[in-house]
Amino acid sequence: MKKVFILGSTGSIGVNSLKVIENLNDEFKVIGLTVNSNVDLLVEQIKKYNPEIVAIRDKSSAEKIKDLVPNDVKLFTGEKGLIEAAVSCDYDIFIGAMVGFAGLAPTIEAIKRGKRIALANKETLVVAGEFVTNLCRENQAEILPVDSEHSAIYQCLVGENLSEVEKLILTASGGPFLNKEKSFFDIATIDEALNHPNWKMGNKITIDSATLMNKGLEVIEAKWLFGLPKEKIDVVIHPQSIIHSLVQFVDGSVKAQLGLPDMKLPIQYALTFPNRTQNYFTRTDLTEIGTLTFTKPDYSKFECLKLAYDALECGGTAPCVLNAANEIAVDKFLKKEIKFSHIPGIIYSALNKFVSNGLSDLESIFEYDKKTREYVRTLN
Ligand code: NAD
Ligand code: MG
Repeated sequence: MKKVFILGSTGSIGVNSLKVIENLNDEFKVIGLTVNSNVDLLVEQIKKYNPEIVAIRDKSSAEKIKDLVPNDVKLFTGEKGLIEAAVSCDYDIFIGAMVGFAGLAPTIEAIKRGKRIALANKETLVVAGEFVTNLCRENQAEILPVDSEHSAIYQCLVGENLSEVEKLILTASGGPFLNKEKSFFDIATIDEALNHPNWKMGNKITIDSATLMNKGLEVIEAKWLFGLPKEKIDVVIHPQSIIHSLVQFVDGSVKAQLGLPDMKLPIQYALTFPNRTQNYFTRTDLTEIGTLTFTKPDYSKFECLKLAYDALECGGTAPCVLNAANEIAVDKFLKKEIKFSHIPGIIYSALNKFVSNGLSDLESIFEYDKKTREYVRTLN
């Protein structure tokens, strides 16, 4: 039986991970659960999965939960508590299902322990790709991507030689504003931006999908996962979200992975790899889907995608600044402090202010993340 630790168990990926584990019967056991503040759901999860360890970051939520956690379950609190939990119990697989830069530090602890990392938290690779991939090598930790595009590429690459890859093609649904004029971005509401046509996800990634920053972050994620330069990573708009991504080889052959837009499949693959396990999730019926379409992304309309390629080109701390500026800009949009159309300008301004120092060590990453956040909080 494999033991599983879930960082961010109450979010969209966390909840889907628990469904997958339940479905895999006795092969996997939940050992650790960590959350930000959702006390009610965490209490439910503790009752159902009986973990050894739980951590809750938010201090006032931690006060509320204290008396509700059974005596035999170890409870950690605060930001440090997430790290203490990740180093305090024994597990085989660490599911990185937390959102944002905050997921980096606990994930590093799991990597240092040489675990399998089922990684949904793409920000970890965006901000610290070089550091994290080196650390994995040193500690014989392996990253299995949960992001559907990267899982698709991973699946296409099984049995292939990376040196024979000509390019990776990441598909993007285009989000809710694919067919809107750019001028609409001035009046786009929060509800409209959160209304993704194909996927049900947490708020931050849903806004990133509306700006196409999500695809930009995924280009950077792909660079580190597969070790290919940005010239070999393309994006194509595919509104049906059935082809999750493709790999083109040097002989011109193209392999794709298909499936319904449901994160349970990539999560299960990351848990069971190199095996596949029977499940009864809804099957893909191509005759029912009928049409699959593809177009080029409009970089002048979706400026965030272009900014991500630029940051990747710059290297060093630039992707970290891109990510921090984006996290704060999205938060400001969700608090109605800025318009949807302001997001790319804010990120551009941060990238210009904090030019990369060319380094990728952890100290630089934490420094650039912090000063970018402070700066962007002052912008409108
Ligand atoms: P979510 O907002 O639904 O859930 C986030 C989880 O992290 C929650 O359990 C929350 O309690 C916890 N959390 C958030 N901030 C925290 C903090 N500061 N400290 C401790 N815990 C904190 O997010 P999600 O949609 O599940 O996405 C999680 C990650 O997976 C993101 O990095 C996202 O980009 C990636 N991802 C998500 C999907 C998807 O379908 N949802 C698909 C691909 C990749
Ligand atoms: Mg994705």
